[in-house]
Amino acid sequence: MSELHIGTKCVQAGYSPKNGEPRQIPIVQSTTFRYESSAEMGKLFDLEASGYFYTRLQNPTNDAVAARIAALEGGTAAMLTSSGQAANFFAVFNIASAGDHVVSSSTIYGGTFNLFAVTMKKMGIDFTFVSPDCTEEELNAAFRPNTKAVFGETIANPALTVLDIEMFARAAHSHGVPLIIDNTFATPVNCRPFEWGADIVTHSTTKYMDGHGMAVGGAIVDSGKFDWTRYPDKFPGLCTPDESYHGVTYTERFGLEGAFITKATAQLMRDFGAIQSPQNAFLLGAGLESLHVRMKRHCETALKVAEFLSKSDKIAWVQYCGLPGDKYYERGKKYMPGGSCGVVSFGVKGGRAAAERFMGRLKIASIETHVADARTCCLHPASSTHRQMSDEELAAAGVSPDLVRYSCGLEDAEDLIADIAQALE
Ligand code: PLP
Repeated sequence: MSELHIGTKCVQAGYSPKNGEPRQIPIVQSTTFRYESSAEMGKLFDLEASGYFYTRLQNPTNDAVAARIAALEGGTAAMLTSSGQAANFFAVFNIASAGDHVVSSSTIYGGTFNLFAVTMKKMGIDFTFVSPDCTEEELNAAFRPNTKAVFGETIANPALTVLDIEMFARAAHSHGVPLIIDNTFATPVNCRPFEWGADIVTHSTTKYMDGHGMAVGGAIVDSGKFDWTRYPDKFPGLCTPDESYHGVTYTERFGLEGAFITKATAQLMRDFGAIQSPQNAFLLGAGLESLHVRMKRHCETALKVAEFLSKSDKIAWVQYCGLPGDKYYERGKKYMPGGSCGVVSFGVKGGRAAAERFMGRLKIASIETHVADARTCCLHPASSTHRQMSDEELAAAGVSPDLVRYSCGLEDAEDLIADIAQALE
Protein backbone atom coordinates (compact mmCIF):
# COMPACT_ATOMS: atom_id res chain seq x y z
CA MET A 1 0.00 0.00 0.00
CA SER A 2 1.23 3.51 -0.77
CA GLU A 3 2.21 5.92 2.03
CA LEU A 4 -0.85 6.65 4.19
CA HIS A 5 -2.29 10.15 4.33
CA ILE A 6 -1.99 12.26 7.46
CA GLY A 7 -5.59 11.74 8.65
CA THR A 8 -5.29 7.95 8.49
CA LYS A 9 -2.05 8.17 10.47
CA CYS A 10 -3.75 10.39 13.10
CA VAL A 11 -6.36 7.68 13.65
CA GLN A 12 -4.38 4.47 13.20
CA ALA A 13 -0.60 4.88 13.46
CA GLY A 14 1.37 3.50 16.39
CA TYR A 15 -1.04 0.80 17.51
CA SER A 16 -2.17 -2.27 15.54
CA PRO A 17 -3.96 -4.74 17.81
CA LYS A 18 -3.55 -8.38 16.99
CA ASN A 19 -6.38 -10.92 16.97
CA GLY A 20 -8.54 -10.50 20.08
CA GLU A 21 -6.56 -7.57 21.50
CA PRO A 22 -8.21 -4.31 22.66
CA ARG A 23 -9.16 -1.96 19.81
CA GLN A 24 -8.26 1.07 21.90
CA ILE A 25 -4.65 1.65 23.06
CA PRO A 26 -4.58 -0.05 26.49
CA ILE A 27 -3.56 2.09 29.47
CA VAL A 28 -0.76 0.12 31.08
CA GLN A 29 -1.16 1.61 34.54
CA SER A 30 1.78 -0.19 36.05
CA THR A 31 5.07 1.14 37.34
CA THR A 32 6.90 -2.14 36.87
CA PHE A 33 7.03 -5.32 34.80
CA ARG A 34 7.64 -8.88 36.01
CA TYR A 35 10.53 -11.10 34.88
CA GLU A 36 11.40 -14.78 35.47
CA SER A 37 15.07 -14.15 36.16
CA SER A 38 17.48 -11.39 37.12
CA ALA A 39 19.58 -12.29 34.09
CA GLU A 40 16.70 -11.42 31.76
CA MET A 41 16.19 -8.10 33.49
CA GLY A 42 19.93 -7.42 33.40
CA LYS A 43 19.86 -7.55 29.60
CA LEU A 44 17.23 -4.80 29.58
CA PHE A 45 19.35 -2.65 31.91
CA ASP A 46 22.31 -3.08 29.56
CA LEU A 47 20.11 -2.16 26.56
CA GLU A 48 20.99 -5.58 25.08
CA ALA A 49 17.34 -6.61 24.79
CA SER A 50 14.25 -4.49 24.25
CA GLY A 51 11.38 -4.64 26.69
CA TYR A 52 9.90 -2.87 29.68
CA PHE A 53 11.16 -2.86 33.22
CA TYR A 54 10.20 0.47 34.80
CA THR A 55 7.73 3.09 33.55
CA ARG A 56 10.10 6.00 34.21
CA LEU A 57 12.12 4.62 31.28
CA GLN A 58 9.43 3.20 29.00
CA ASN A 59 5.80 2.15 29.08
CA PRO A 60 3.76 0.41 26.32
CA THR A 61 1.00 3.08 26.31
CA ASN A 62 3.54 5.87 25.95
CA ASP A 63 5.42 3.97 23.26
CA ALA A 64 2.28 3.47 21.14
CA VAL A 65 1.41 7.17 21.30
CA ALA A 66 5.03 8.21 20.67
CA ALA A 67 5.06 5.93 17.62
CA ARG A 68 1.91 7.67 16.34
CA ILE A 69 3.58 11.08 16.68
CA ALA A 70 6.75 9.74 14.98
CA ALA A 71 4.61 8.53 12.07
CA LEU A 72 2.83 11.89 11.82
CA GLU A 73 6.10 13.81 11.69
CA GLY A 74 7.77 11.27 9.39
CA GLY A 75 10.47 10.49 11.98
CA THR A 76 12.27 7.29 12.92
CA ALA A 77 11.83 7.42 16.73
CA ALA A 78 10.00 9.47 19.34
CA MET A 79 9.52 9.75 23.08
CA LEU A 80 6.89 11.37 25.27
CA THR A 81 7.82 13.72 28.09
CA SER A 82 5.84 15.12 31.00
CA SER A 83 5.54 18.56 29.35
CA GLY A 84 6.63 20.64 26.38
CA GLN A 85 9.20 22.29 28.63
CA ALA A 86 10.77 18.90 29.37
CA ALA A 87 10.75 18.06 25.64
CA ASN A 88 12.67 21.21 24.70
CA PHE A 89 15.06 20.82 27.62
CA PHE A 90 15.82 17.18 26.76
CA ALA A 91 16.12 17.88 23.02
CA VAL A 92 18.84 20.47 23.63
CA PHE A 93 20.51 18.95 26.69
CA ASN A 94 20.86 15.60 24.89
CA ILE A 95 23.57 17.15 22.69
CA ALA A 96 24.74 20.30 24.54
CA SER A 97 26.38 20.51 27.95
CA ALA A 98 28.44 22.96 30.02
CA GLY A 99 30.76 24.97 27.79
CA ASP A 100 28.58 24.55 24.68
CA HIS A 101 26.57 27.08 22.72
CA VAL A 102 23.22 27.05 20.89
CA VAL A 103 21.73 29.46 18.32
CA SER A 104 18.02 30.13 18.81
CA SER A 105 15.36 32.21 17.15
CA SER A 106 14.42 35.07 19.49
CA THR A 107 10.67 34.72 18.90
CA ILE A 108 10.01 31.61 20.95
CA TYR A 109 7.57 30.78 23.74
CA GLY A 110 8.42 32.76 26.93
CA GLY A 111 8.90 29.59 28.99
CA THR A 112 11.39 28.22 26.48
CA PHE A 113 13.20 31.57 26.38
CA ASN A 114 13.54 31.51 30.17
CA LEU A 115 14.67 27.87 30.11
CA PHE A 116 17.43 28.77 27.64
CA ALA A 117 18.43 32.27 28.75
CA VAL A 118 18.29 31.71 32.52
CA THR A 119 18.18 28.06 33.62
CA MET A 120 20.35 26.43 30.96
CA LYS A 121 22.72 29.36 31.09
CA LYS A 122 23.22 28.52 34.78
CA MET A 123 24.12 25.01 33.60
CA GLY A 124 26.92 26.53 31.50
CA ILE A 125 25.22 26.52 28.07
CA ASP A 126 25.25 29.83 26.19
CA PHE A 127 22.51 30.89 23.78
CA THR A 128 22.65 33.48 21.01
CA PHE A 129 19.20 34.71 20.02
CA VAL A 130 18.71 35.76 16.41
CA SER A 131 15.70 37.37 14.76
CA PRO A 132 13.60 34.90 12.74
CA ASP A 133 13.79 37.57 10.03
CA CYS A 134 17.61 37.66 9.97
CA THR A 135 19.51 37.20 6.73
CA GLU A 136 21.45 34.00 6.15
CA GLU A 137 24.64 36.01 6.64
CA GLU A 138 23.47 37.25 10.06
CA LEU A 139 22.44 33.73 11.01
CA ASN A 140 25.81 32.27 10.00
CA ALA A 141 27.56 34.97 12.03
CA ALA A 142 25.86 33.72 15.22
CA PHE A 143 27.70 30.35 15.16
CA ARG A 144 30.76 29.60 17.30
CA PRO A 145 33.16 26.65 17.23
CA ASN A 146 31.31 25.20 20.27
CA THR A 147 27.78 25.59 18.77
CA LYS A 148 25.87 22.31 19.08
CA ALA A 149 22.37 23.07 17.78
CA VAL A 150 19.99 25.60 16.24
CA PHE A 151 16.47 26.03 17.66
CA GLY A 152 13.28 27.72 16.46
CA GLU A 153 9.47 27.45 16.41
CA THR A 154 7.62 26.82 13.13
CA ILE A 155 5.03 29.42 14.19
CA ALA A 156 6.20 31.34 17.24
CA ASN A 157 4.04 31.60 20.35
CA PRO A 158 2.72 34.33 20.64
CA ALA A 159 4.51 36.49 18.03
CA LEU A 160 3.19 34.23 15.20
CA THR A 161 6.35 34.78 13.15
CA VAL A 162 6.94 31.96 10.66
CA LEU A 163 10.43 30.48 10.59
CA ASP A 164 12.30 30.02 7.32
CA ILE A 165 13.02 26.38 8.18
CA GLU A 166 15.00 25.71 4.99
CA MET A 167 17.36 28.62 5.62
CA PHE A 168 17.83 27.73 9.30
CA ALA A 169 18.48 24.08 8.35
CA ARG A 170 21.01 25.11 5.71
CA ALA A 171 22.92 27.27 8.20
CA ALA A 172 22.81 24.56 10.89
CA HIS A 173 24.07 21.88 8.52
CA SER A 174 26.83 24.04 7.08
CA HIS A 175 28.14 24.29 10.67
CA GLY A 176 27.73 20.55 11.31
CA VAL A 177 24.88 20.81 13.83
CA PRO A 178 21.19 19.79 13.80
CA LEU A 179 18.14 22.05 13.56
CA ILE A 180 15.58 21.49 16.36
CA ILE A 181 12.08 22.75 15.56
CA ASP A 182 9.26 23.20 18.07
CA ASN A 183 6.28 22.36 15.85
CA THR A 184 3.59 22.84 18.53
CA PHE A 185 1.45 25.49 16.81
CA ALA A 186 1.54 24.13 13.25
CA THR A 187 1.29 20.43 14.20
CA PRO A 188 2.37 17.79 11.66
CA VAL A 189 -1.02 18.14 10.02
CA ASN A 190 -0.03 21.58 8.69
CA CYS A 191 3.78 21.38 8.56
CA ARG A 192 6.28 18.58 8.74
CA PRO A 193 9.63 20.29 9.44
CA PHE A 194 11.65 17.18 8.49
CA GLU A 195 10.49 17.68 4.89
CA TRP A 196 12.23 21.09 4.98
CA GLY A 197 15.53 19.92 6.49
CA ALA A 198 14.91 19.99 10.26
CA ASP A 199 16.51 17.14 12.21
CA ILE A 200 14.67 16.99 15.54
CA VAL A 201 11.08 18.09 16.23
CA THR A 202 9.58 18.87 19.63
CA HIS A 203 6.00 19.42 20.78
CA SER A 204 4.05 20.72 23.69
CA THR A 205 1.38 18.03 23.24
CA THR A 206 -0.60 20.03 25.83
CA LYS A 207 -1.83 22.15 22.90
CA TYR A 208 -3.50 20.99 19.66
CA MET A 209 -2.31 17.38 19.89
CA ASP A 210 -4.27 16.78 23.09
CA GLY A 211 -6.67 19.44 21.86
CA HIS A 212 -9.05 19.45 24.82
CA GLY A 213 -6.97 21.01 27.61
CA MET A 214 -6.86 17.73 29.52
CA ALA A 215 -3.23 16.67 29.87
CA VAL A 216 0.10 18.51 30.04
CA GLY A 217 2.66 16.67 27.91
CA GLY A 218 5.49 16.86 25.43
CA ALA A 219 7.15 14.86 22.69
CA ILE A 220 10.51 14.67 20.90
CA VAL A 221 10.82 13.15 17.43
CA ASP A 222 14.04 12.31 15.59
CA SER A 223 14.22 12.38 11.78
CA GLY A 224 17.08 9.86 11.93
CA LYS A 225 18.78 11.89 9.19
CA PHE A 226 21.43 13.84 11.07
CA ASP A 227 24.75 11.99 10.84
CA TRP A 228 26.27 12.45 14.30
CA THR A 229 29.15 10.17 13.34
CA ARG A 230 30.47 12.79 10.88
CA TYR A 231 31.17 15.03 13.90
CA PRO A 232 32.27 12.66 16.72
CA ASP A 233 34.17 15.47 18.47
CA LYS A 234 31.07 17.65 18.58
CA PHE A 235 28.73 14.88 19.77
CA PRO A 236 30.81 12.56 21.98
CA GLY A 237 27.68 11.60 23.96
CA LEU A 238 26.28 9.88 20.88
CA CYS A 239 29.49 8.67 19.26
CA THR A 240 31.62 7.39 22.17
CA PRO A 241 30.90 4.78 24.88
CA ASP A 242 28.48 5.78 27.66
CA GLU A 243 30.11 4.51 30.84
CA SER A 244 26.83 5.00 32.72
CA TYR A 245 25.29 2.39 30.39
CA HIS A 246 28.00 -0.25 30.38
CA GLY A 247 29.93 1.30 27.54
CA VAL A 248 27.17 1.38 24.92
CA THR A 249 27.88 3.70 21.95
CA TYR A 250 24.44 4.91 20.92
CA THR A 251 25.16 5.52 17.22
CA GLU A 252 26.81 2.08 16.88
CA ARG A 253 24.15 0.11 18.73
CA PHE A 254 21.01 1.94 17.58
CA GLY A 255 22.05 3.50 14.27
CA LEU A 256 21.23 7.04 13.18
CA GLU A 257 17.52 6.20 13.34
CA GLY A 258 17.53 5.33 17.06
CA ALA A 259 20.59 6.88 18.72
CA PHE A 260 19.19 10.27 19.74
CA ILE A 261 15.96 9.03 21.34
CA THR A 262 17.60 6.01 22.99
CA LYS A 263 20.23 8.27 24.57
CA ALA A 264 17.57 10.76 25.73
CA THR A 265 15.56 7.91 27.26
CA ALA A 266 18.46 6.01 28.77
CA GLN A 267 20.25 9.02 30.24
CA LEU A 268 17.90 11.98 30.59
CA MET A 269 14.65 10.20 31.40
CA ARG A 270 16.53 7.88 33.74
CA ASP A 271 18.12 10.79 35.60
CA PHE A 272 15.48 13.55 35.39
CA GLY A 273 12.38 11.37 35.31
CA ALA A 274 10.11 13.71 33.37
CA ILE A 275 7.92 10.88 32.07
CA GLN A 276 4.38 11.39 30.79
CA SER A 277 1.88 9.33 32.81
CA PRO A 278 0.32 6.45 30.82
CA GLN A 279 -3.11 7.93 31.62
CA ASN A 280 -2.11 11.24 30.02
CA ALA A 281 -0.54 9.41 27.08
CA PHE A 282 -3.86 7.63 26.54
CA LEU A 283 -5.74 10.96 26.50
CA LEU A 284 -3.14 12.33 24.07
CA GLY A 285 -3.59 9.31 21.80
CA ALA A 286 -7.35 9.92 21.78
CA GLY A 287 -6.79 13.61 20.99
CA LEU A 288 -4.51 12.76 18.06
CA GLU A 289 -7.30 10.75 16.42
CA SER A 290 -9.17 13.95 15.52
CA LEU A 291 -6.16 16.29 15.06
CA HIS A 292 -6.54 16.54 11.28
CA VAL A 293 -10.26 17.35 11.54
CA ARG A 294 -9.80 19.89 14.32
CA MET A 295 -6.84 21.71 12.72
CA LYS A 296 -8.85 22.38 9.58
CA ARG A 297 -11.65 23.92 11.63
CA HIS A 298 -9.28 25.92 13.89
CA CYS A 299 -7.61 27.42 10.80
CA GLU A 300 -10.87 28.24 8.98
CA THR A 301 -12.21 30.02 12.07
CA ALA A 302 -8.95 31.88 12.73
CA LEU A 303 -8.93 33.21 9.19
CA LYS A 304 -12.52 34.50 9.57
CA VAL A 305 -11.65 36.12 12.92
CA ALA A 306 -8.46 37.67 11.49
CA GLU A 307 -10.40 39.04 8.50
CA PHE A 308 -12.99 40.60 10.83
CA LEU A 309 -10.33 42.13 13.08
CA SER A 310 -8.37 43.51 10.14
CA LYS A 311 -11.47 45.48 9.06
CA SER A 312 -12.29 46.87 12.52
CA ASP A 313 -11.36 50.50 13.22
CA LYS A 314 -10.87 49.57 16.91
CA ILE A 315 -7.97 47.25 16.12
CA ALA A 316 -4.45 48.66 15.71
CA TRP A 317 -2.88 45.67 13.98
CA VAL A 318 -3.48 41.96 13.28
CA GLN A 319 -0.95 39.17 12.81
CA TYR A 320 -2.03 35.92 11.20
CA CYS A 321 0.04 34.37 8.43
CA GLY A 322 -3.08 33.08 6.68
CA LEU A 323 -4.28 36.65 6.15
CA PRO A 324 -3.35 38.02 2.69
CA GLY A 325 -0.99 40.96 3.19
CA ASP A 326 0.43 39.56 6.47
CA LYS A 327 4.22 39.89 6.72
CA TYR A 328 4.49 36.08 6.85
CA TYR A 329 1.80 35.28 4.27
CA GLU A 330 4.19 34.03 1.56
CA ARG A 331 6.35 32.04 3.98
CA GLY A 332 3.22 30.61 5.58
CA LYS A 333 1.91 29.48 2.18
CA LYS A 334 5.25 27.82 1.42
CA TYR A 335 5.58 25.85 4.67
CA MET A 336 1.86 25.44 5.50
CA PRO A 337 -0.16 25.50 2.28
CA GLY A 338 -3.14 23.83 3.95
CA GLY A 339 -3.43 26.30 6.87
CA SER A 340 -1.25 27.38 9.79
CA CYS A 341 -2.91 27.41 13.23
CA GLY A 342 -5.93 28.75 15.10
CA VAL A 343 -4.13 31.48 17.01
CA VAL A 344 -4.43 35.14 15.99
CA SER A 345 -2.44 37.95 17.63
CA PHE A 346 -3.61 41.56 17.52
CA GLY A 347 -3.43 44.93 19.24
CA VAL A 348 -6.49 46.83 20.45
CA LYS A 349 -6.34 50.60 19.87
CA GLY A 350 -5.71 52.25 23.24
CA GLY A 351 -2.83 49.92 24.17
CA ARG A 352 -2.49 47.72 27.21
CA ALA A 353 -5.44 49.14 29.19
CA ALA A 354 -7.79 48.83 26.20
CA ALA A 355 -6.58 45.25 25.64
CA GLU A 356 -7.36 44.32 29.24
CA ARG A 357 -10.80 46.02 29.08
CA PHE A 358 -11.59 44.19 25.82
CA MET A 359 -10.56 40.80 27.22
CA GLY A 360 -12.64 41.32 30.37
CA ARG A 361 -15.77 41.89 28.25
CA LEU A 362 -15.47 38.73 26.15
CA LYS A 363 -18.23 36.24 26.97
CA ILE A 364 -17.29 33.15 24.94
CA ALA A 365 -13.49 33.41 25.01
CA SER A 366 -12.11 32.94 28.49
CA ILE A 367 -8.88 34.40 29.86
CA GLU A 368 -6.51 31.46 30.31
CA THR A 369 -2.82 30.61 30.52
CA HIS A 370 -3.47 28.25 27.69
CA VAL A 371 -3.77 28.17 23.96
CA ALA A 372 -4.67 25.82 21.16
CA ASP A 373 -7.57 23.74 22.35
CA ALA A 374 -11.27 23.18 21.69
CA ARG A 375 -12.49 26.15 23.76
CA THR A 376 -11.65 29.66 22.63
CA CYS A 377 -9.35 31.45 25.04
CA CYS A 378 -7.24 34.58 25.13
CA LEU A 379 -4.27 35.95 27.00
CA HIS A 380 -2.29 39.14 27.47
CA PRO A 381 1.29 37.71 27.28
CA ALA A 382 3.11 40.88 28.45
CA SER A 383 1.40 40.62 31.85
CA SER A 384 1.39 36.80 32.12
CA THR A 385 3.49 34.22 30.22
CA HIS A 386 6.14 36.80 29.23
CA ARG A 387 6.11 39.02 32.32
CA GLN A 388 9.63 37.91 33.36
CA MET A 389 11.10 39.50 30.22
CA SER A 390 12.68 42.95 29.99
CA ASP A 391 11.27 45.47 27.46
CA GLU A 392 14.13 44.70 25.05
CA GLU A 393 13.56 40.96 25.40
CA LEU A 394 9.83 41.45 24.83
CA ALA A 395 10.55 43.42 21.66
CA ALA A 396 12.98 40.73 20.44
CA ALA A 397 10.35 38.07 21.20
CA GLY A 398 7.86 40.00 19.07
CA VAL A 399 5.57 40.69 22.04
CA SER A 400 4.29 44.26 22.10
CA PRO A 401 2.64 45.53 25.33
CA ASP A 402 -0.78 45.63 23.63
CA LEU A 403 -0.60 42.13 22.10
CA VAL A 404 -3.68 39.97 22.70
CA ARG A 405 -3.26 36.29 21.86
CA TYR A 406 -6.62 34.93 20.76
CA SER A 407 -6.86 31.17 20.32
CA CYS A 408 -9.85 30.14 18.21
CA GLY A 409 -11.49 26.98 19.50
CA LEU A 410 -14.02 24.78 17.77
CA GLU A 411 -17.09 26.95 18.40
CA ASP A 412 -18.89 28.55 15.43
CA ALA A 413 -16.90 31.42 13.92
CA GLU A 414 -20.02 33.60 13.71
CA ASP A 415 -20.48 33.42 17.50
CA LEU A 416 -16.82 34.23 18.19
CA ILE A 417 -16.96 37.22 15.85
CA ALA A 418 -20.18 38.48 17.47
CA ASP A 419 -18.52 38.12 20.89
CA ILE A 420 -15.45 40.09 19.75
CA ALA A 421 -17.67 42.75 18.18
CA GLN A 422 -19.66 43.31 21.40
CA ALA A 423 -16.46 43.41 23.49
CA LEU A 424 -14.96 46.05 21.18
CA GLU A 425 -18.02 48.29 21.38
N1 PLP B 1 6.54 25.24 23.17
C1 PLP B 1 5.54 26.06 22.80
C2 PLP B 1 5.49 26.58 21.40
C3 PLP B 1 4.53 26.41 23.71
O1 PLP B 1 3.55 27.21 23.32
C4 PLP B 1 4.61 25.90 25.03
C5 PLP B 1 3.59 26.27 26.04
O2 PLP B 1 2.77 27.12 25.82
C6 PLP B 1 5.68 25.07 25.38
C7 PLP B 1 6.62 24.74 24.43
C8 PLP B 1 5.79 24.50 26.76
O3 PLP B 1 4.89 23.44 26.85
P1 PLP B 1 4.22 22.91 28.22
O4 PLP B 1 3.34 24.01 28.71
O5 PLP B 1 3.50 21.69 27.77
O6 PLP B 1 5.34 22.61 29.14
